[in-house]
Amino acid sequence: MESLEAGLEHQSEQITLIHSRYTVPVRPGNAVYENYSVAIADDIVVSILPREEAERAWPNADTVELPDHVLLPGLINSHTHSPMTLLRGYADDMELHDWLKKHIWPAEREFVGPGFVADGTRLAIAEMLRAGTTCFNDMYFFPDATIEACQEAGMRASIGITIIDFETAWAKDVDDYIKKGLHLHDQWKDQPLVSFTLSPHAPYTVSDDTLHRISVLSNEMHFQVHMHLLETEWEIKQSFQHHELHPISRLEKQGLLNPNLQAVHMAQLSADDIEKFAQSGAQVVHCPQSNLKLASGICPLSLLMDAGVNVALGTDGAASNNNLDMISEAKTAAILAKGVSGEAQAVNAFQALEMMTINGARVLGLDDQLGSIEPGKQADLCALDLSAPETQPLHHVVSQIIYAASSRQVSDVWVAGRRLLNSGQLMTIDTDEVIRSARRWHVKLAGLEDRMLNEKKESAL
Ligand SMILES: [Zn+2]
Repeated sequence: MESLEAGLEHQSEQITLIHSRYTVPVRPGNAVYENYSVAIADDIVVSILPREEAERAWPNADTVELPDHVLLPGLINSHTHSPMTLLRGYADDMELHDWLKKHIWPAEREFVGPGFVADGTRLAIAEMLRAGTTCFNDMYFFPDATIEACQEAGMRASIGITIIDFETAWAKDVDDYIKKGLHLHDQWKDQPLVSFTLSPHAPYTVSDDTLHRISVLSNEMHFQVHMHLLETEWEIKQSFQHHELHPISRLEKQGLLNPNLQAVHMAQLSADDIEKFAQSGAQVVHCPQSNLKLASGICPLSLLMDAGVNVALGTDGAASNNNLDMISEAKTAAILAKGVSGEAQAVNAFQALEMMTINGARVLGLDDQLGSIEPGKQADLCALDLSAPETQPLHHVVSQIIYAASSRQVSDVWVAGRRLLNSGQLMTIDTDEVIRSARRWHVKLAGLEDRMLNEKKESAL
């Protein structure tokens, strides 16, 4: 909490006071303030203080009343593929490689382009804002279209410069992926809502040479490296077959096992490798619902946390989750860790909240700006209305958020001080148009599935 004096320098600016029944700032840890106010000016949190003091300090402020709510830092989805919302429910109930090779990749080959990416990202942003997410860490093709959809909506995103060893509609080879990605980075690097990572897709889709180039680029230009890693047992076997090395050793050899690595999944991390991984300072993004749904494996979350690894939370794409709901993901992470470790105290409610706020900010290297409600940080906030029967009686606020609340209780969201969700209404997105475009894509995608089915039947004759 900041002293009143420190906030007085902002007296001449237009202040908005958000009066909330509860405020959980995440830092300091475990703090739950009752009848506090968060003062914001432009895109910045100016102060967090008792309501009476706030009203005395800024009698002419604009005000927002949240009488039955808890105010939190905006949620951070540390791994997703936002345009894949258009493939939600397209292929379910199969393991990763069948899912990718027989359904997802053929659909992507046919349809992925700027239109698909823009429409899918808009659908994803609508869903994310309605569920309290204010920032997402994305990996996909045509990131220019993703950035433009974010700019239209006022959404914050970390954009992956996707790199993969084969040709797609976005780029023809590794040089082309890197060239296009760096061009985009140069174009947008001064825009405050956008940041970038280098995003090699996975160990099995990039060569040693590509990994080496990414390592050099990451060091030279201070990029973080966002990559699927140890998602399946197949990936480890493939790595031994083709490279005679475990994927972690391969990354180490190429100079990528370091604090800049955002290792997504780690569902096949053995207990023996945890210490080596922890000592490297590399960070993990845990996507429990996608791992469970694809039966990929289970990330040893509590062992990683015990070893001091920073673990954030991601939904993965909506094609393998099948939603972008961080509150539900946090509950899954917490209860799965308890079930797997056999310890009910493993990953408590506050730790689960940290995973989708401050830990996510650390993964992105943005913890000086995001992840907690503190003076000087960005005013990225979300509010949940706790008056619903599902979250009553309110014995413990944080426990209620993680174990009982639903994302449908998210009422308001601010990104960089701008209110993008106001009492449940999206302010910068035409929801009806987003739904209409999703329906148009359904028709196109269903046509492709029919065609593939017919071709399969004909070839069987
Ligand atoms: Zn993914």
